Amino acid sequence: MATPSLRGRSAVVLGGGIAGLTAAYSLTRRGARVTLLERRTVLGGLARSEPLAGKLREVYYHFICAEDYSLLRLIEEMGLSAALEWTPARTSYYVEGRLYPFTTPLDILRFPPLSLRDRLRFGLHAARCRRMKDWVALEELTAEAWLRREVGDRACEVIWQPLLRTKFGRYAGEISAPWIWHRIHRASRSRASLLRPESFGCLAEGTGMLLEALADRIEDAGGKIRLSTPATGLALRGGKVVAVQTPEEDLPADLVISALPLPEFVKLLPEEAAGFRESLAGIDFLGISCLLALVNRPLTDQYWINIADERVPASGIIEYSNLNRHAAPGGGLAYLPVYTPHDDPHYLMPPEDLTRELETGLRMVLPDVQLEQITATLLSRDDYAQAVTPPGFSRRLPPIQAPVEGLYLLDSTQLYPSDRCLSGMIGLVRGLVEGL
Ligand SMILES: Cc1cc2nc3c(=O)[nH]c(=O)nc-3n(C[C@H](O)[C@H](O)[C@H](O)COP(=O)(O)OP(=O)(O)OC[C@H]3O[C@@H](n4cnc5c(N)ncnc54)[C@H](O)[C@@H]3O)c2cc1C
Repeated sequence: MATPSLRGRSAVVLGGGIAGLTAAYSLTRRGARVTLLERRTVLGGLARSEPLAGKLREVYYHFICAEDYSLLRLIEEMGLSAALEWTPARTSYYVEGRLYPFTTPLDILRFPPLSLRDRLRFGLHAARCRRMKDWVALEELTAEAWLRREVGDRACEVIWQPLLRTKFGRYAGEISAPWIWHRIHRASRSRASLLRPESFGCLAEGTGMLLEALADRIEDAGGKIRLSTPATGLALRGGKVVAVQTPEEDLPADLVISALPLPEFVKLLPEEAAGFRESLAGIDFLGISCLLALVNRPLTDQYWINIADERVPASGIIEYSNLNRHAAPGGGLAYLPVYTPHDDPHYLMPPEDLTRELETGLRMVLPDVQLEQITATLLSRDDYAQAVTPPGFSRRLPPIQAPVEGLYLLDSTQLYPSDRCLSGMIGLVRGLVEGL
């Protein structure tokens, strides 16, 4: 049990995603009086659930990797370890109009679009990424330049370039080498050995179980959770934070932890902090539109199909029910994510039109699927789903402690070169609150 040295402090936590909830929970354990503000009607942020066909379902897919230590510790602390299940995940890759298995190194060694030499280079590079820890030497390189050097032109053009393009669109050529290295590294550390498939974890009833447990602990300890309550500004006096503004009232606070997406935090900074506000500008974020489709029988036996085809707007088909057997017993549950800049036609298109386009794409990749198999769909959107991290990004990371006494900010970009993930955010929060 941590020392409750924050007794008497009035803390306001901004944002009810995993980071905000973990912050509010950790602060109540240290004795602070805590109010958490969430502008939506539900908790969870990018890990929220919404109703579809009579059941709450996560609007985006979440899996757990073997080295997600902070997340695994929190699951244990909430008494949820018995609900954690690990499943080997099958992967395939849709490229040049065909679907190829892409789960084990043997699949890669047999991957027809590449020559044997290119397959070997690709496989050896993945193995090196698994072992490698020091990424600093890659910091000034783009992912594309680095991958071209490591795996050769053909493997880069057949595998990596299309994947970067479907995820990052016009930003594909700007993504840094450390970012892609960490993506390969994190997933491959989820293999028991190089020759085995990656195994990923999930909670039987999804991330919502963890979010609910955290909310219960916060309220049991006297913390307050206010839904449908956006923070609209921060009041500062003499270089200190003194209150959080909401549409109804100003909440006095001597400790404020923002767990909002960075651009939302920036909007709250008043004129006194204009210099700080400007220093945080200039990071681009992609939005996400994601179709969740409930089907009356499984689409495939794959967890993840990567798609590299410009005719299909989705970067993949993630059949979550092949990872979590409780998700849609007898049927299936699949996600089709589309990452885009906010001005992209796919982001601006009415949900029904994008749903139709994604269903067509689904049938192009999986021609045996019938549209009648789809029994319900939900299209969700979020503005800040993925930061664009160009070379040198480590010099642009937002600080955790603002240059204002009592004000702290947490954002997924601070995990760089790691991609955004639940475990990373929990680790950041724990580090911050323990040090207060
Ligand atoms: C498609 C997709 C798949 C993913 N898959 C995985 C995965 O498999 N594994 C994994 O570990 N991670 C995954 N992630 C990442 C993970 O979801 C995020 O890293 C994590 O949920 C971020 O949590 P957060 O609390 O930092 O931010 P958020 O979840 O963004 O929470 C911020 C909260 O702040 C609220 N808010 C915004 N403005 C205001 C305001 N003014 N006042 C009050 N509240 C406000 C928002 O409504 C939101 O609830 C995925 C993300 C996406 C988009």
